[in-house]
Amino acid sequence: MNGISLVNVSKSYNGITALSNLNLQIASGEFVVIVGPSGSGKTTLLRCIAGLEDIDQGELFIGGIYSNDIKVGKRPVQIIFQSLALWPHMKVMEANKFSNLTLGLKVRNWAVDQIQSRISKVSKRVGLEDSLHSRFPQQLSGGQQQRVAIARALTTDPGIYLMDEPMSNLDPITRVNMRQEIKRIHKEVSATTLYVTHNINDAFAMADRIVMMDEGTVIQTGTREELKSNPLNEWVVDFLNSA
Ligand code: ADP
Repeated sequence: MNGISLVNVSKSYNGITALSNLNLQIASGEFVVIVGPSGSGKTTLLRCIAGLEDIDQGELFIGGIYSNDIKVGKRPVQIIFQSLALWPHMKVMEANKFSNLTLGLKVRNWAVDQIQSRISKVSKRVGLEDSLHSRFPQQLSGGQQQRVAIARALTTDPGIYLMDEPMSNLDPITRVNMRQEIKRIHKEVSATTLYVTHNINDAFAMADRIVMMDEGTVIQTGTREELKSNPLNEWVVDFLNSA
């Protein structure tokens, strides 16, 4: 239902190849972590799935539907960026106004009581205390901002989450806790999740399946055990050993 399929997908920016004949199948509900060095095309892959970039060649299917031409915002996906992209001039939550947690629901014309009930549910789910609702993002810690970004993505219940290095600004302890939180939330909502990182430890901690990318293409996919016991080449071995 919420699977993703990329068939021979290529994408370049002014002659710079970002994705090259990439093939990848993601099952509905799967938690896939995409790892690879900087510049390997991970962010471009997420942006192409979200519709923030057009694909030059190949085919993208989301939920079995050919999606190359579906506009950004019309696809059943939510992206959580490295920068988190919280709105600095809006509070975390104001039921009657545009705020970080209500914006997506307001533009969909949800009633105030529906909004309140949904936000209360997602806030609980991500461990965001109600007392933080009246703050602006800059009045929150990195971990709290993280929770707001995840809560915001959960409000509209898209079925597919695309996460682009969302933990890179967290201290190591918060990062370890957040990994567990993200994994727990995934179990609860069972949405398809693509998580991009250059950190193999994130992949080991969260992934149902790891996708190893380099130079715009998929080198190997598998569970941690599969990759360790049967690595395709030295590059895979070295990357796994960077843990
Ligand atoms: P990653 O997320 O793995 O670091 P990216 O998808 O950001 O990789 O980048 C893949 C390649 O595409 C890199 O060579 C990068 O320099 C290039 N690239 C990415 N975005 C742009 C852009 N907007 N304009 C030009 N080149 C870009």
